Amino acid sequence: MTLRCVTFDLDDTLWECGPLLSAAEEAFYDWLGFNYPRISERYSLEELVSHRRGYFRQFPEMEHDFTYLRRHWLRNLAKSFGYGAELAERGFRVFWEHRNAVTLFDEAHVLLDGMRERFAVGAITNGNADVHHIGIGHYFDFVITAAQAGAAKPRPEIFHAALTAAGVEAAHAAHVGDDPVRDVHGANAVGMRTVWVNVNAVPWPGGPPPDAEIRTLDELPPVLEHWSRR
Ligand SMILES: [Mg+2]
Repeated sequence: MTLRCVTFDLDDTLWECGPLLSAAEEAFYDWLGFNYPRISERYSLEELVSHRRGYFRQFPEMEHDFTYLRRHWLRNLAKSFGYGAELAERGFRVFWEHRNAVTLFDEAHVLLDGMRERFAVGAITNGNADVHHIGIGHYFDFVITAAQAGAAKPRPEIFHAALTAAGVEAAHAAHVGDDPVRDVHGANAVGMRTVWVNVNAVPWPGGPPPDAEIRTLDELPPVLEHWSRR
């Protein structure tokens, strides 16, 4: 096969996401304490995070759109505490700015630089990271978010949206990601090649295995090279 398209998951594939999201929740909570203290007097940071998670769970049909859910939650929170609706937009922005303050893995820039000369390069994400805001938009030909696609990984619709954007058949495309189900099972089910980014060297949890497994992104070029030759 000829490899024509490579798509990447973002969170925990191009950068570490856990500490980033915690820091964003914390920054939002500090901001809230300063501007809307009745809420932070009622909830600790941990309680507020559980409150948000519980709220999100009430809308499973919107689980592909965290931006919508967070704004919805914030509007509801503002109302319950007698604050104006502007809390929602301002509060979302505070979280979003911090959530997008990512530091790419060292080898990510080296990997992505010049990749578009060889492949159609895409990003496929369930989250609300913004590659243009982050300053890495030039590495990508297209970005497909779960919110745009109306379906989150591992659903086939989001991968099909990416293949359509690339104008490439699944057999000529590979997806790179850290999540065994969302990334590997999802991409495999539509017929794409799969690369599992397994930074923590954990055992494969089961199900159809990835076509390749890497610990760091600098192990990716030889894999793509190999597939391009076959
Ligand atoms: Mg991920």
